[in-house]
Amino acid sequence: FQVPIPQNEPVKEYRPGSDERAKLKAALAEASSKTLDIPMYIGAEEVRTEIQKELVAPHNRHQILGYFHEGDQSHVEQAITAALNAKEEWANLPWEHRASIFLKAAELLAGPYRYKINAATMLGQSKNAYQAEIDSACELIDFLRFNVHYATEIYSQQPKSSAGVWNRLEYRPLEGFVFALTPFNFTAIAGNLPTAPALLGNTVVWKPAYQQIYSAQVIMEVLKEAGLPDGVINLIYVDGPLAGGVIFKHPDFAGIHFTGSTGVFQQIWKTIGENIHLYKSYPRIVGETGGKDFVLVHETADPKTVATALVRGAFEYQGQKCSAASRAYIPSTLWDQIREYIVADLQAIRMGSVEDFQNFVNAVIDEKAFDKISKYIANAKADPAVELIAGGNVDKTNGFFVEPTVLVAANPLYVTMCEEIFGPVLTIYIYHPDNFEQTIELVDQTSPYALTGAFFAKDRYAIDLVTRKLSNAAGNFYINDKPTGAVVGQQPFGGARASGTNDKAGSLLNLLRWVSARTIKETL
Ligand code: GLU
Repeated sequence: FQVPIPQNEPVKEYRPGSDERAKLKAALAEASSKTLDIPMYIGAEEVRTEIQKELVAPHNRHQILGYFHEGDQSHVEQAITAALNAKEEWANLPWEHRASIFLKAAELLAGPYRYKINAATMLGQSKNAYQAEIDSACELIDFLRFNVHYATEIYSQQPKSSAGVWNRLEYRPLEGFVFALTPFNFTAIAGNLPTAPALLGNTVVWKPAYQQIYSAQVIMEVLKEAGLPDGVINLIYVDGPLAGGVIFKHPDFAGIHFTGSTGVFQQIWKTIGENIHLYKSYPRIVGETGGKDFVLVHETADPKTVATALVRGAFEYQGQKCSAASRAYIPSTLWDQIREYIVADLQAIRMGSVEDFQNFVNAVIDEKAFDKISKYIANAKADPAVELIAGGNVDKTNGFFVEPTVLVAANPLYVTMCEEIFGPVLTIYIYHPDNFEQTIELVDQTSPYALTGAFFAKDRYAIDLVTRKLSNAAGNFYINDKPTGAVVGQQPFGGARASGTNDKAGSLLNLLRWVSARTIKETL
């Protein structure tokens, strides 16, 4: 069985005057002209309830994009039943049939749906055109295509046979249903978490973060148009603890594919542990849960390269990436130059609505996030041991705007060096080059997370040393590059320690978690 060899989907640039920019603008205008009524999708039904909740554009809190219908426990039960009912037929379809649905979905996203899903991501999650393009177009398309490729690799792994004996491995889906719990910050992740298990024959109950429902609905539309049978992926909007109360008590609960906060993931793991006697199988627990990602700079690094990486790594998508650069360690010998470049870059950056393509920075996701980030900034501004280098202003009058903020902390264990803020705040600690080895230790021990990290140096000895010493400090380690922007098929993504189970998204390692192999020995 041959599948097209995956190539990464080329990124469109939306240059001024281009045809693609005109099409994206038209999709934005079309989306803004409507107020969508968004149902849940359970089995063959579009489910509407009495409880309708607003979806607003974070950059313009007065713009209502649509209303979604919120469900309760009964909808979770219905979704589980629909998933279990669809399971046998789906799992028994020829593998090529399942694969072709996801390949078709990728084609639809690359073609007719590209502008629609990017517009939804821009308006609903406040991403600029480029950030939407690399997420809801390219990364989501890549996940779909590469997962098909990796699944073929899994299916082709077979044991040895001998004369008179045929041994084989049958890659069954898990017994039961899979729960996908997805975050607001990447449409691609929200699409990958339910589709990866489904590709391998599982059926899924999918609960997106409420702030991402606007683009989740487009994903569902695409999957349906691609031919996904009813009940394979059931999309519900139910309060998290309420949904968990039903799902984690169900005997057919077979696994969770999660991206979100460490606190929620730990609570889920405990609940699963408490209920372990209820399940038919030991559930697969796969989660990515955040980071406090570092940038360590050596005195041989190039200051301009470092400054650009810090600005992009910390402030693209307002720092709302698990991978965002949020703590940096800079040698005193380079600080003046790096500071100048950072300040100049940030002066040139514009903040505002997603509709104006000149804006590099847009809004943070909602008021709760705005208030949390603002508090860290206010406390830092009031602290004499912290210097404000850039930004520091916030405004939620019309949208949830937080200026890219750079702090220098005298104490390397200052709160913003240690805690995940999930917003546009970068804290820097200046170290003396003589203390380089102690600084490596500091990087390793400051945070419980281990998602991404970057090291900048020209010195080969330093690169080797840091790569070895920080081997457990990041699941994705970048040498002379920013710690964000992993590309499917090129940098499998995920971290260990408090950052998750490190089952690298968009790789064979992830897909292996969604099969339960049966060994068959046949004596001939
Ligand atoms: N994969 C994304 C990156 O490399 C981050 C994903 C996340 O925020 O969870 O930047």
